[in-house]
Amino acid sequence: MEHEAGICKRCPLCEKRTQSVFGTGNPFSELMVIGEGPGEEEDKQGLPFVGKSGQLLDKILAAGGFSRQENVYIANIVKCRPPGNREPSPEERSACLPFLLLQIELIRPSIIIL
Ligand code: SF4
Repeated sequence: MEHEAGICKRCPLCEKRTQSVFGTGNPFSELMVIGEGPGEEEDKQGLPFVGKSGQLLDKILAAGGFSRQENVYIANIVKCRPPGNREPSPEERSACLPFLLLQIELIRPSIIIL
């Protein structure tokens, strides 16, 4: 599935991505965090929430006893970076939603933080 997102051309966001950003963390987690879409740093590294907001998220998660290495899975609604970090359009979100729905189905988290 991650490979499919990497070669996906279902929406225009494929045109300017460096790479898709599928998700990271423990796929057996009870807690799943879902963001809007990858930013510049995420697009470069291929990982979600690795910029300043990601560092803050890691601190917040750690305060609750969670870490992406152990018991959290993190993904985004769209897997490719919207240019200029704009909001993904409804069409882009709809095109990418099957990936996220499948992730949720496989991970089966008890808690989802949006
Ligand atoms: S954002 Fe999603 S639907 Fe659009 S090209 Fe990337 S993987 Fe495909």
